[in-house]
Amino acid sequence: MSASISPRRRGDEPEERCAVTDCPEPAVRSLARSEVRKAFPKLPEEPRRANLCRAHYREFKKATREARTLGRLDW
Ligand SMILES: [Zn+2]
Repeated sequence: MSASISPRRRGDEPEERCAVTDCPEPAVRSLARSEVRKAFPKLPEEPRRANLCRAHYREFKKATREARTLGRLDW
């Protein structure tokens, strides 16, 4: 019997992908999903953390900032 060694990924580099569905970018930030869904409501609720790539993290910050600004305006 030859021992079959199952190839394992090295744990050194966690491959985190951006949580936005069609986005192939690597994640740079891990955020609470409830926060991220304020900016990206389409995200599934499943994991508790949502990873965002740089571009989407920017969008997230922008979206939350706009929400805050809107909150100041009286409509
Ligand atoms: Zn992304």
